Amino acid sequence: QVVNYAPFTLLPSAVPSALFQQAYAVQQDFNLLVDAISQNKEFLEHTLASTIKVDDFTARLFSIYMQVLEEGLAQSVFLGINRSDYMFDCGVDGTPSLKQIEINTIAASFGGLTSRTAAVHGQVLKVLGKSEEASRLLPNNPSKGLALGIAKAWELYGSQSAVVMFLVEEVQRNIFDQRCVENELWNRNIRVIRKRFRDVFEKGSLDDAKRLYMDGQEVAVVYYREGYVPKNYDQQNWEARLLLERSRAVKCPDIATQLAGTKKVQQELSRPGTLEGLLPGRAEAVARMRATFAGLYSLDLGEEGDKIAAMAIADPDRFVLKPQREGGGNNLYGEELRQVLEKIRDSPERTSYILMDKIKPQPAKNYLLRAHSPLQVSECISELGIFGVYVRQGKEMVMNEAAGHLLRTKAIEHADGGVAAGVAVLDTPYLV
Ligand code: ADP
Ligand code: MG
Repeated sequence: QVVNYAPFTLLPSAVPSALFQQAYAVQQDFNLLVDAISQNKEFLEHTLASTIKVDDFTARLFSIYMQVLEEGLAQSVFLGINRSDYMFDCGVDGTPSLKQIEINTIAASFGGLTSRTAAVHGQVLKVLGKSEEASRLLPNNPSKGLALGIAKAWELYGSQSAVVMFLVEEVQRNIFDQRCVENELWNRNIRVIRKRFRDVFEKGSLDDAKRLYMDGQEVAVVYYREGYVPKNYDQQNWEARLLLERSRAVKCPDIATQLAGTKKVQQELSRPGTLEGLLPGRAEAVARMRATFAGLYSLDLGEEGDKIAAMAIADPDRFVLKPQREGGGNNLYGEELRQVLEKIRDSPERTSYILMDKIKPQPAKNYLLRAHSPLQVSECISELGIFGVYVRQGKEMVMNEAAGHLLRTKAIEHADGGVAAGVAVLDTPYLV
């Protein structure tokens, strides 16, 4: 009913070419890693044991995971669409390095809208008389790459008449981003329907072979753009989620892959030996991934956690405190971090958080253009995301790609939050 343009920077932002290449080069490794974690029950159980005792949301997801495993998986095709996010940490000598912020394994967004931003920034540069610079902006089309993954999963499902279902929010704020991916599927003659959890609860059903039907239409692929935060769920929505997970439809992501994207899993991955255990015989991939890790620390109860908590309370500006939440605006910094951690330092509640070294990028000036906001120059920092797409059939990876990038930029006064949270805006990397 109300349409605004998506917020964007006036100018593209400088991104070090070597770090950009590095982020692309490690994406297939991260695809393999996320996929490996999703198949490793022992690892997920062990890693999330302390978290699910205190975090109801993760516990609920985990119980669906266990229920589905007990019943036996009805589908052997898996589709992953993720986005690995990075910032450029500025070292003491001024050299920037690529540091991973997180991997989003569910509802990783803005692949659609960002497929248009290079054209916008190219035009701005031309208007400014910089057509040489405009010609250097890289083409970028994640919406196509994402759609190719969905199309592959649809094909492997093996029913011409089955549809792809986008599972969308009650209030749709980012519909055009999704439409870009959707249109790529229609262009390949794949039918797409858009439904909410509530529709699934009311009209979804499974037949004897666990085929999923919505309103009499068979569903081949469920693509979640919803379901990653507690407020997406009431009792009926949880039941709908369970129905989808039990079904034979390919889920993007399945519940195990969603759990693989939790902050707690990310923190455990940084422990020496963990990556090697998850990906045996892949030393080079392990080294590429580890090179992007910032310091991550467990706050589990015990001596190690006590020490870490004390360290953070003594020097809060060095760290970020993160709960098991997605979508921006949940992390704690500085004085607030100190206060919260002091309050929960001796309680099991602290295990619902992880601690991370704070990345400190070099700010640069830009204009952030946002509907109904005044135009002013801001000191900005950027976050680079690389989209990963993979499809596995049984034991075989049949697709494993980096599918494009996303650059989001925000004013330095905002410690947290992405585009959807109203803080960051869409940008285009200008490689230097
Ligand atoms: P979410 O799942 O809410 O997106 P993130 O881990 O991506 O959680 O954190 C949200 C935002 O907080 C990031 O986009 C980034 O701007 C900021 N942030 C997160 N971790 C760090 C960090 N280690 N150092 C500096 N900023 C961070
Ligand atoms: Mg994030």
